[in-house]
Amino acid sequence: MADRQHGKITISALACKDCGAPMYPDMPKGGMSCAYCGHFVPFAPTDEDFTPRITFRHQALETVGGFLKLGHVAIMDKEALNPPPSAEQKIRRMRLDEKIRACDADALDAINDEAYIDMNCPHCGKKLTANLTDNIFTCPYCGQKFGDYDQLSTGDFDATLIVGRKYNFYGKCLPFHLHREEATQAVASLRRRYADDFADDNIEARAKEELIAAYVPVQLADYRWKMQVKSERGTFWFYQECLNWTWTRTLMFDAYLLDELAPWDYSELSILKPAYLEGNVRLFASQNIGEWQRTIPNYILQKKTPARLKAAFGLEQCEPLQVSRDLRKHKFAFLLLPIYFLDCKKDAGENDKQIRVMVNGQTGKAAALILENGKDDLFRAIEPATSYVFAKGGERTILSPPMPVKYIKSPFLHERMDIEDAFEKNSGGFFAKLFG
Ligand SMILES: [Zn+2]
Ligand SMILES: [Zn+2]
Repeated sequence: MADRQHGKITISALACKDCGAPMYPDMPKGGMSCAYCGHFVPFAPTDEDFTPRITFRHQALETVGGFLKLGHVAIMDKEALNPPPSAEQKIRRMRLDEKIRACDADALDAINDEAYIDMNCPHCGKKLTANLTDNIFTCPYCGQKFGDYDQLSTGDFDATLIVGRKYNFYGKCLPFHLHREEATQAVASLRRRYADDFADDNIEARAKEELIAAYVPVQLADYRWKMQVKSERGTFWFYQECLNWTWTRTLMFDAYLLDELAPWDYSELSILKPAYLEGNVRLFASQNIGEWQRTIPNYILQKKTPARLKAAFGLEQCEPLQVSRDLRKHKFAFLLLPIYFLDCKKDAGENDKQIRVMVNGQTGKAAALILENGKDDLFRAIEPATSYVFAKGGERTILSPPMPVKYIKSPFLHERMDIEDAFEKNSGGFFAKLFG
């Protein structure tokens, strides 16, 4: 909120003109509400108000004579099973601050600006300190909220705080529902549940100090795939889809960990106005990540498939053999997701065991990623403790169960199978019988 050049800030209370009670910024409603009398003041209009709404372009699964028509996933893509380049692992092991420094050093300076103002609360008179990186801050004694008068009246904000280029910063977001304290509790629950995995890293204590709130840029798409997998019980084909999948538009946060936070509820999409954001939320513009934009969905599919098939069918070893996939982007579907993020320990080296945690700022679902040399990535997640209620019939992330299928006939017609019947007969055995 700071006017760093001039050091002049006029603090303004978010108080109701009618009754004097504190007012609360309400992102979904696009304004500030008085908790006592219901008086409502809309946020100042900004360019973001002209952001077009998302047009969802779902395509229903077609059935013909009882068979599934899977034409959209007909073409096998060998490249889709290429492993990620080694540079990918290097980036995943970098700390967020290092990545920000590499991409936008000015933003890192602005974010880490520890300047604050000492003041007496204009409401209750007690002494309080306000960090200059906070847009709106709250008096801990009386609960009154304050902000920079200029920003509150115009909706302007300090664009230096955006990591990346401002014109790549999306105008739509899902508002935060979870407070920082609740996110810290979610991390604590995760640690209790998987105590052994976090034995040498007290993520709960670290969360109290280091947990940050952030808005992460993603693009929504329907992601659908057909895959052939080799397992300890045989080879089989399955079909699966994730509707309204969040395709990351940045490498700042681990894409695989972010993927663990689904489902998201898109019925609450609103326009982001950073001037009215409470507390310190880090803002990330979308990054041009080149070739990786195209390949990341493949890497995620490869990494996540074995665990999904284990959960669905109890298979211990699944190796993807072939895959065909279809990514159908929705229109104007760029948005920011609210997350809390705990980076790995500050002194963790590139080759040390690293633990990172993310919490879904909407629902409270928490997930950890444990990276350890020579071991597979370990994901740990717990469902939300708070009772976030998804809007009925609204747009949300939907991951279908994996469905074993068998090709029957043209055009692209497949039969749904039970997993027991889906395992392909060992062709070696068949020929052995014929000629043996
Ligand atoms: Zn009022
Ligand atoms: Zn006060």
